[in-house]
Amino acid sequence: MIPLEEAQAAVLGSIRRLGPETVELADAVHRVVAEDVVARENIPPFANSAMDGYAVQGSDVAKPGALLRVIGEVSAGHAGDYQIEAGSAVKIMTGAPMPLGADTVVRIEDTERLEDLVKVVVSVPAGKSVRAAGSDVPMGTPVFVRGTRLQATHLGVLATIGSTRPSVSRRPRVALLSTGDELASASAAVLRPGQIRDSNRVLLKALLSEVATVLDQGIIRDNPVDLHAAFARAAAESDVVVSSGGVSMGDYDHVRDVLDDLGAVDFWRVAIKPAKPFAYGTLAGVPFFGLPGNPVSAAVAFEQLVRPALLAMQSATKLFRPRVRALAGEKISSDPDRLEFLRVRLHLDARDRLIARSSGGQGSHVLSGLAAADGFGLIPVGTEEIRAGQSLTIELFRAPETRSWMDD
Ligand code: AMP
Ligand code: MG
Repeated sequence: MIPLEEAQAAVLGSIRRLGPETVELADAVHRVVAEDVVARENIPPFANSAMDGYAVQGSDVAKPGALLRVIGEVSAGHAGDYQIEAGSAVKIMTGAPMPLGADTVVRIEDTERLEDLVKVVVSVPAGKSVRAAGSDVPMGTPVFVRGTRLQATHLGVLATIGSTRPSVSRRPRVALLSTGDELASASAAVLRPGQIRDSNRVLLKALLSEVATVLDQGIIRDNPVDLHAAFARAAAESDVVVSSGGVSMGDYDHVRDVLDDLGAVDFWRVAIKPAKPFAYGTLAGVPFFGLPGNPVSAAVAFEQLVRPALLAMQSATKLFRPRVRALAGEKISSDPDRLEFLRVRLHLDARDRLIARSSGGQGSHVLSGLAAADGFGLIPVGTEEIRAGQSLTIELFRAPETRSWMDD
């Protein structure tokens, strides 16, 4: 068996980076920026008011009780043409540009209006409630560096600076196929004896869609002719081939013959549980990942070995899911020979500590346990047992949903 880190290093050491392309901003979520994004102008572009109130000179309102003459009004989107002098004020709305000479805004709540005069009832420090030009992003500074994976919030920043066609790394096109004589399509109304529905392809497609473009190759039967044709076609059409099934001890021989014929694939036994059997190599020069057939194993192998590689192909700086520490909510037994990825559900206790409990059956076929999990509890090699209350590392594959306000 090879340790997971060694398998990851071998995979990540062999991948080739893809070049850049430009995309529409609306299509850029989850993409990896290919060059540093620099603001070409100040954000915000001009000093403006953070409040509805009165634009004034700070020296006028250092003490409570100032009485100022209101010389006009500016609202958002309108420049106004006022010169504020000592003793004067302009009524101003949130987002409106600061009039010349004004350096401070007094909130409307802190004033009393008396016809064309306004009384400031509190003392206001100079500079209050003004958003300076460039206070969000100063012109010429990088807003985020290449290798950043764009989230909705990043798209908002790109929109603000007018970068509507960002340069991002090309996404790997991943040919995805399921192997197995027992597999029926997920949409099959009835199953013949011995058949199961192909869950891996649906699950993997959804996981892949955040990091790649998926080319669905369907279900391939366990015979050398079909496998050969399918793997050859998959490699010809894609940047990466991902299959599930057919790499465990029982049946990998004819898969192995086919893969040997098409390229150079190693069959590994990775020291993780689940997902020990794993195949990696190239088919006609294209990277190939052979995931185990059991759905939980396929998901774990995907998360640990395929997803990081697909992100590395896009030159992402961060390749792995976040890890946090939690306390075991119950005793956990583990196989000391392998790094175990226990499926766990997380909750916060009354002291806001994260508590991890098994999310269901831990068999590698128990997809319901994975679906109920927020992450993997990592039980290191050499550990046979984690006691209730002991802390352990959790790799989050989703942020735990918050509870409804009615729950405990
Ligand atoms: P294999 O790795 O092909 O020996 O398969 C191991 C186990 O995973 C068997 O119980 C298979 O029936 C199951 N399996 C293989 N492929 C899939 C799939 N695409 N969806 C659901 N289960 C699968
Ligand atoms: Mg099989």
